[in-house]
Amino acid sequence: MDQDSRLLDKTIVNTIPPLDLARQYQIIGDEISTAVQQVLASGRYIGGAMVQELETQFAAYTRVEQAIACNSGTDALYLALRAYNIGAGDEVITSSFTFFSTAEVITLVGATPVFIDIDPQSFNFDTQQLAAAITPKTKAIIPVHLFGYPADMTTVMEVARQHNLLVIEDCAQATGAMWEGQKVGSIGHVGCFSFFPTKNLGACGDGGMVTTNDPEIATTIQKLREHGSNIRYYHELIGINSRLDSLQAAILQIKLRYLDRWNQARHEVAQRYQELLSPIPGIILPQVLVPAQSVWNQYTIRIQQPQSEALEGLEGRSNLRDQVREKMQSQGVSSMVYYPIPLHLQPVYKNLGYQLGQLPHTDRTAQEVLSLPMFPEITPEEQQRVAYALKDALQEISSD
Ligand SMILES: *Cc1c(COP(=O)(O)O)cnc(C)c1O
Repeated sequence: MDQDSRLLDKTIVNTIPPLDLARQYQIIGDEISTAVQQVLASGRYIGGAMVQELETQFAAYTRVEQAIACNSGTDALYLALRAYNIGAGDEVITSSFTFFSTAEVITLVGATPVFIDIDPQSFNFDTQQLAAAITPKTKAIIPVHLFGYPADMTTVMEVARQHNLLVIEDCAQATGAMWEGQKVGSIGHVGCFSFFPTKNLGACGDGGMVTTNDPEIATTIQKLREHGSNIRYYHELIGINSRLDSLQAAILQIKLRYLDRWNQARHEVAQRYQELLSPIPGIILPQVLVPAQSVWNQYTIRIQQPQSEALEGLEGRSNLRDQVREKMQSQGVSSMVYYPIPLHLQPVYKNLGYQLGQLPHTDRTAQEVLSLPMFPEITPEEQQRVAYALKDALQEISSD
């Protein structure tokens, strides 16, 4: 055991979680309680002024004309696809290395997801592969700003213009992130946001938002989220029930005021990780290249696999990354794997016919990623413990 490890043993007091929303609540709890009580006393629980105010504030924050609140990030994506009449016979190009709902909604509206490989540096889809994936059936592109890191929107918009395609940004993990000085969600035709509690702007429950500069699309989405109707009992479309409730809107109004501070804190946490982890061999750290401005929803490193073992985990066996994760856990440091199985290899998408190895960077990345504890309130001492635990785990495994 080296000196770092001994220090680690002495300092274990409790487990460092991947994120800790209770600490955030300690800071803003009083404000939230007051707002919640006001809503409860008002007797107005769905829609109303709280939701409208949030929509106005969120539109201003994202620098768009309009924002339409809904029940989740998944619904935001679904409503956007529906508003543009994307459906049976259409293809939508996206990343396979994302949360399931990005592709799920494409299938839900009757269209077909087309997956392209990722750029292992940014974890986002490789925009150089967009053009080759376009067919006469292609209607839209969904760039995902994964882990808070904006996709290359310059290239996405250029390709979309050339081929007359729609761009629906999946901003679920990237509220506040910027590409070339523009907020994500204001660059494509629509932006789709999630307020799931683990996102940078999270509610105390589910919630979502669609942003757009197109007034017609905004009106259609307003109808679709409320049973195809914006005049009561007069239905022009088949929609869904996807309203945001007033309690969540009140909470989100408060949290929106803190968002830039929290994103800045995440940035500082990321900087500190870079310093602590850069001397450790065998791992690859995330790098943010201009003109991207990440909001660090996750701090995700790669545990480099020997080339020959690259696909072990996808075949159900434990790989190097999983071993590191277990050892860190036993030292009191939690970490997460986002995402262990890429979407093109999910059982439900077998019918699409993708093979293991067809999107090689995606397959390998799914094997190697490890997201370390990341939240605005994590302390430098805790980050030290994360670094020691990681270094220790790697050393132990290499000496086994
Ligand atoms: C969270 C997330 C969604 C879905 O948002 P929900 O609010 O959970 O429905 C969609 N896409 C990505 C990339 C996400 O991370």
